[in-house]
Amino acid sequence: MMRKIFLVFAALCFSGTIGRAQTTASQPIVVVLSLDGFPSRALKDPRLPMPTLRKLIADGVAADAMTPVNPTVTWPNHTSLVTGVDAAHHQVLFNGLLTFPSSGAEPLVKPWINKDELVHAKTLYELASDHGLTTAQVDWVAIYGARGLNWSFPERPDPDGPIERDLVDEKFVTREELENFGEDSSPAWHDQVWTDAAVDIVKRHTPNLLLFHLLATDSLQHRYGALTPAAYEAYAYADTRIAALLQAFRDAKALDRTTFFIVSDHGFASFSHTVSPNVVLMQDHLMHVENGQYAGDVWAKAEGGTAMIYIRKPEQRAELIPKLTSEFAALEGVEHVYEGKELEALGLPTSDQTDQAPQLVLSAKSGYSFLAQTQGNVIQNGAIRGTHGYVNTNPDMQALFVASGAAIRQGVPLGTISNLQVAPTIAMILGLKLDAAQGEPLKSILK
Ligand SMILES: [Zn+2]
Repeated sequence: MMRKIFLVFAALCFSGTIGRAQTTASQPIVVVLSLDGFPSRALKDPRLPMPTLRKLIADGVAADAMTPVNPTVTWPNHTSLVTGVDAAHHQVLFNGLLTFPSSGAEPLVKPWINKDELVHAKTLYELASDHGLTTAQVDWVAIYGARGLNWSFPERPDPDGPIERDLVDEKFVTREELENFGEDSSPAWHDQVWTDAAVDIVKRHTPNLLLFHLLATDSLQHRYGALTPAAYEAYAYADTRIAALLQAFRDAKALDRTTFFIVSDHGFASFSHTVSPNVVLMQDHLMHVENGQYAGDVWAKAEGGTAMIYIRKPEQRAELIPKLTSEFAALEGVEHVYEGKELEALGLPTSDQTDQAPQLVLSAKSGYSFLAQTQGNVIQNGAIRGTHGYVNTNPDMQALFVASGAAIRQGVPLGTISNLQVAPTIAMILGLKLDAAQGEPLKSILK
């Protein structure tokens, strides 16, 4: 009841002050720091070079594993972490919206789509904002054009944005570097600038909810493989970013009311063989070359350990679904072909709900990854690299969950949890409720 009165009071105080609002010293603060692609199994290595993360675990809790949603891809899982619902509900299946050119050319994933058009679920930051709490995001995804955010340093920074200007004024970065942010720079540099942005937001504004996403762990594992020496360098650097963030809360004198969730969106697996389903569709004459461009009514969209098959013409589905199911099931490197009710069991939306829903899903065997290419050999062998996208029951896909700080009890055993439990738990700490969440809040870890 007191909390309810407080929230009504807070809503009155902060309404209409987006951009200028400031938390008061009595309000809870929650940080969600996502280390992209950090596999939970890395935590089992006693020589993992992450002393700051270990200290947070010693003071709080760590799950043995956190099961991501399908597809085990970045944007779908970051969306689940802040909505508590799976892809059947939020309908984010790629790192953006899948769009189908009328020419029949390859469907394209477009990232810069407004949140309301892409994400079909209410998020934590919208809920928090509705109740007068302040919110911020740094490099979070599926958040373009979203309402309910007081401070942002987006994946594509705006050199005229207030946080960006702070960093330029402090000489952490130049305006030119912000204008060319995606080019000619290393994953570590991006993580450094994003951390500078998060530290700036914490010190100047101390929002009630900060969503903060770091990417170097994902980039390095894609290039060199999971749990390789290069991956360990990325894990070690991520730990220094956590330490910098903790120091910012210490400097802002807000550490004692802040709860940290250090999570990942999915795990990682290494592979050396690739499978190209579009080459099979070309051999089946379901795709052709027109004016130098590949076109067809059936396309495979590769997402590492998964390939989504889209049969665009509904009248062709009755014939093609069984034919392609048996053809792909016999293909080297394919573990299973999911169709019909099996797709719903994966937590994917149906074709009646959205054009984002595939008609078939191929899962890769261990050591194989799907490619988008339309020519060359169906199966190829190469150097070891890393990927994700395998079905969410795969042990390598299990994600990181660490909670520590003001609201968290120490040493509560958790076993394996679902990432659908994160958002409702955070809502509880903030005195809110995410009505649509599918996961149960982790009440046992809360003080
Ligand atoms: Zn990711």
